[in-house]
Amino acid sequence: MMLYIHIPYCHHKCTYCGFYSVAGRHNRDEYVDALCRELEIRRVAEPLQTVYIGGGTPSLLSADQLRRIVRTIRDNYDVSSVEEVTIEANPEDLTEAYLVMLADLHFFARLSIGIQSFDDAELRILNRVHNSKQAVDAVCSAARAGFGNVSVDLIMGLPSQTERQWLSNLDTLSSLLDLNVVKHLSCYELTVEPGSILERQLKMGRLSLPDEAVVEKEYGILYEWCERNGFEQYEVSNFSLPGFRSRHNSRYWNRTPYIGVGAAAHSFDGKRRMWNVADVAEYVAKIAKGVLPYDEETLTERDAYNEYLMTSLRTVDGIEKERVPESFKEQLSKSIVPYVEYGLLVETATAYRPTRRGLMQADGIAADLFIRR
Ligand code: SF4
Repeated sequence: MMLYIHIPYCHHKCTYCGFYSVAGRHNRDEYVDALCRELEIRRVAEPLQTVYIGGGTPSLLSADQLRRIVRTIRDNYDVSSVEEVTIEANPEDLTEAYLVMLADLHFFARLSIGIQSFDDAELRILNRVHNSKQAVDAVCSAARAGFGNVSVDLIMGLPSQTERQWLSNLDTLSSLLDLNVVKHLSCYELTVEPGSILERQLKMGRLSLPDEAVVEKEYGILYEWCERNGFEQYEVSNFSLPGFRSRHNSRYWNRTPYIGVGAAAHSFDGKRRMWNVADVAEYVAKIAKGVLPYDEETLTERDAYNEYLMTSLRTVDGIEKERVPESFKEQLSKSIVPYVEYGLLVETATAYRPTRRGLMQADGIAADLFIRR
């Protein structure tokens, strides 16, 4: 079983953000009370394999608040065979003292740092709180505090970004590799989320996105960087040194059941998807009354299969033939032929695996293969 805990607080809103998040400090204690209560209500006997605290910005929580969450997990769940525990953090919060506190909890072995860019001008465009020096310092301080498994998030295809700027971002990352702690890279192409500040800025003509040709070259630069530094692509946007894939996220993509705790968190029990209300005040009020504030949908066989196509084609493992329900096998084997012929997928005895070009078109291929009737 996997456990995800959502911390919806942020210092302020980044321009590109489409997630549910709340700026400011209010009610964090009450929120943590509610989280701990939900953790108790949802407790299961099954041992946890992975735990992930994400957001939002989990590193906005104080030592006391984190301690309470960790204690509640330990008191209510079997963590004896847990394989990976990750916490997301933003560079501006990762002071030496904060990192020592995190290490002293003896719980979080993996740190995922939301750097996004090492370029001050790009960070300002994104309205991030940190600057490039803080980003570099955060990784160095994490190494000094003993974190040996750090993941770095970067975004490519930023407004006005040139290939040279992108290269310079990766050069800075290269300069940190000698610390021997950066084992994983999540590298996303910027998407314009509906309702985001970025969407308005683009509509008003205050910013412009780089041409497709530039973004394509940036992908090329990224792949070269990964090959040079021993990072393997295992999902559209995720790269790791051997043995350091995110186990938590890999299980999501593999459709393993998980419990999601917190406002806007999702859960999955193998058949049903459930999502908590995306409103901190309502979440806290309902949990205080002992009510889990969620909606749910039960997946049909077709829904589950379409979800599997969507997630599996985004990973290098691709579609495992034995996971395709009998009733959809014939249709898949016919409709997949052109993708194999165009070199987007490779058929093996057990699977259809995307090539690198196939990974770049994963969403479109999956949508074409969906069962719609
Ligand atoms: S830190 Fe992350 S969740 Fe928070 S506003 Fe920025 S992008 Fe959104």
